Amino acid sequence: MPTLFTTNPTPYIIAGPCSIESQRQFAESVEALSQMPQVSMIRCGVWKPRTRPGSFEGRGEEALQWIKQLKKQHPNLLFAAEVATPQHLELCLKYSIDAVWIGARTSGNPFSVSELCNALKGCRLPVLVKNPLIPDIKLWTGDIDRVRNAGISDVAAVHRGFFLDNNLGYRNNPLWKIPIELKRLHPDLPLLCDPSHISGNAALVAKVSQTAMDLNFDGLMVETHPHPKQALTDAAQQITPAQLAELIYNLRIPDKNNAIPNELQLLRQQIDMIDSQLLQLLADRNRVSQTIAGIKKANNLSILQINRWEQLLNAHLADAAEMGLSQDFVRRIFEEIHTESVRLQDEQMHGKQ
Ligand code: PEP
Ligand code: MN
Repeated sequence: MPTLFTTNPTPYIIAGPCSIESQRQFAESVEALSQMPQVSMIRCGVWKPRTRPGSFEGRGEEALQWIKQLKKQHPNLLFAAEVATPQHLELCLKYSIDAVWIGARTSGNPFSVSELCNALKGCRLPVLVKNPLIPDIKLWTGDIDRVRNAGISDVAAVHRGFFLDNNLGYRNNPLWKIPIELKRLHPDLPLLCDPSHISGNAALVAKVSQTAMDLNFDGLMVETHPHPKQALTDAAQQITPAQLAELIYNLRIPDKNNAIPNELQLLRQQIDMIDSQLLQLLADRNRVSQTIAGIKKANNLSILQINRWEQLLNAHLADAAEMGLSQDFVRRIFEEIHTESVRLQDEQMHGKQ
């Protein structure tokens, strides 16, 4: 179903400062972004969720007045603000804000989302839902269902990465498998990427944006600031409007309507065959593992043999290095395989849980 975020030129670009800091900084931002036809919506940080008390928390209602004035000068642009409470939403409606988004701290809290959704009933605002900080796809899709149940038809998801133990050099781990799964479950839901909060670092923003395009995302929400070094929030990750123009110019945007060439069909057949061999091997391995369980039981041996696991893992990692496979990838695969083997042996010895 066409929505605001998919009927406009793709990718749908939302840009603007992390926070509205002053009337001048915001006007300067909007002026520069209004020169870029690819930018459809301005992000307006009006209330800022901060980790520590005493930090800059946004300009609140004063900022909404500045937005209202700028909206008159730029009728072709839409303006979106983050809302965390029904009071925020009420103020956004009072100042005719065009769209709202639910931030990552709010989207992880079903109580807050329900309250917001009650307040959204009867509104016709487009709503963007950022992923919660924890990688629980059900929490994210639950938010989206709640927003849709409130009668909102223009809903989009925004992937902004997850705060994990290991963020792989990003501020928030992109964990691409989660938005890929969201796309599989909800192929019609517009999906945007926020490369700024994933990166945490201006130098990474273009690369993350390109990955999002390669994964068929519908748009980007990028933090831009006329003078990023002076920004009151998220200074390290904001780029200038000129850098955004360069980023967009350099994006490779795949064409969803292009035909699949024969060469690709043939390679896909090879992939299908390899996958089927992998599955066959996994099934064979599981059968051997179940037989092992019987022998361990008969000899009163523990299921987990830590030395054996250590040896296996080291041997596989050494082989992986020789084969040019990523150590991290091979470790993850074998940790999964070993965990499943332990589970199967446990089931074999003691029955299903
Ligand atoms: C933001 O976009 O300003 C923001 C606070 O982001 P997030 O909710 O993704 O942390
Ligand atoms: Mn920010």
